[in-house]
Amino acid sequence: MPNPRRTFAIISHPDAGKTTLTEKLLLQGGAIHLAGEVKARGAARRARSDWMKIEQQRGISVTSSVMTFEKDGVTFNLLDTPGHEDFSEDTYRTLTAVDSAIMVIDAAKGIEPQTLKLFEVCRLRSVPIITFVNKVDREGRDPFETLDEVADKLALDVSPQMWPVGMGGLFEGLLDFRTGEIARPEGSSKEYLGTRDTAEIPGEYAEQIELAQVGYPELDLEAYRNGDMTPVYFGSALKNFGVEELIDAIARYAPPPRPQPAGDAQISPTRDEVTGFIFKVQANMDPNHRDRIAFMRQVSGTFKRGMKLTPSGLGKPIAVHSPILFFAQDREIADTAEPGDIIGIPNHGTLRVGDTLSEKNDVRFTGLPNFAPEILRRVQLRDPTKTKQLRKALDDLSEEGVIQVFYPVIGGSSIVGVVGQLQLDVLVSRLAAEYKVEAALEASPFATARWLKGPQEKLDEFERFNQGNLAHDRDGDLVFMAKSPWDVGYQQEKNPELTFSATKER
Ligand code: GDP
Repeated sequence: MPNPRRTFAIISHPDAGKTTLTEKLLLQGGAIHLAGEVKARGAARRARSDWMKIEQQRGISVTSSVMTFEKDGVTFNLLDTPGHEDFSEDTYRTLTAVDSAIMVIDAAKGIEPQTLKLFEVCRLRSVPIITFVNKVDREGRDPFETLDEVADKLALDVSPQMWPVGMGGLFEGLLDFRTGEIARPEGSSKEYLGTRDTAEIPGEYAEQIELAQVGYPELDLEAYRNGDMTPVYFGSALKNFGVEELIDAIARYAPPPRPQPAGDAQISPTRDEVTGFIFKVQANMDPNHRDRIAFMRQVSGTFKRGMKLTPSGLGKPIAVHSPILFFAQDREIADTAEPGDIIGIPNHGTLRVGDTLSEKNDVRFTGLPNFAPEILRRVQLRDPTKTKQLRKALDDLSEEGVIQVFYPVIGGSSIVGVVGQLQLDVLVSRLAAEYKVEAALEASPFATARWLKGPQEKLDEFERFNQGNLAHDRDGDLVFMAKSPWDVGYQQEKNPELTFSATKER
């Protein structure tokens, strides 16, 4: 029997401690080793350098996109969400590939803007959330205050599972409600090194803890898995407090791989045939190679190396000879993978974000949308002889999900659309570095775009009267380019037989 899988992401505001916590989780899982562990380090380094050779050959950095580790017979797949402040489609899509999330909050700062945004994305998909209140080794807010903020701002029931006995300079340890044990700080660094006891808790803290235990509901597994309740852990990633308990909680409570929607059907992880979907494509860092890695979230079946899978965007099968799995210690070519696992598939642009892969070409996963862009820019070439290169570049980058591209029905220059400013910066620098295309992004008259659907004759009629506001996307689908949101409403009212959709599912 393969290990149970837990596939999750960490969401947080920059500086809350995501990187530190990730490192500690990997350490716990034995996936990386402490500097002092000389023997283990040698082996790990060798394995690691093998992996890096693969990366160099392919010129692709996949190192931190997916981190797999094992503990106590459970396999954990930790998916990295890009850390910048800008909301990006990439982040959203990564969250479509997980079954649960850990929300890291700084004990002194509480819920910060980026935490809130990412949380809302999780809520859209009812992704269950475990909360980790980090940095209790420092002076922070009163834990009650933090709990109430989570409950109020996120409209979630909170159920504390641990409690700090003092904080900052007064920090005496961390009580685990489940076991009744207190993890203790040790030595001059005040780290947690494995010492636990069940000593009585002194006066005021005892009162606080009693209040916490009667004042909040007990963990209700169903409510958590529905996304209505969050169990709350306290800890210090830096000093290693709460990390063991957190891993234990993920293993114990976080949901196993869930069924995925495919139209009206749900594809269960127990289905025999292998299915999965591409949620991310990462391009080559080396501009001389056009290799990419497509990241497939496996939904069902047991994948075996060399297996033939049919991508929905291609229609004919490809053999997956060199799939990549992501064990942080010894990244290696995968032989098998299970539902919940992520497989990296090297390819030359045949696989696109949103594609379904299946053995029998009989499944189409839905729910990986393109978003109506909120920023639209006209692309102006500095060197008009590079039209072909530009077209190629824009097609490539839209396949990768970096941008969306629209070709106006009338007029020459392409229009790119993004949901965040950062995507535009990435676009300009990659056009120059990888495609040697110098381009400028100029204002366009459009504010947003809507995918059009409806009876053909109505579409034709609409097209006759609105040519100046129509474009085709990368797939040739018709898109209404609106000068304002008001424009969308107006046209929708005038053309009730047509739908103006803000998202498009591939
Ligand atoms: P990220 O931006 O969320 O990935 O945050 P990092 O993991 O890089 O941490 C940001 C800063 O907070 C770094 O200086 C860390 O050393 C520090 N930090 C992280 N966890 C803790 C903690 O538990 N206690 C304290 N005192 N500092 C921490």
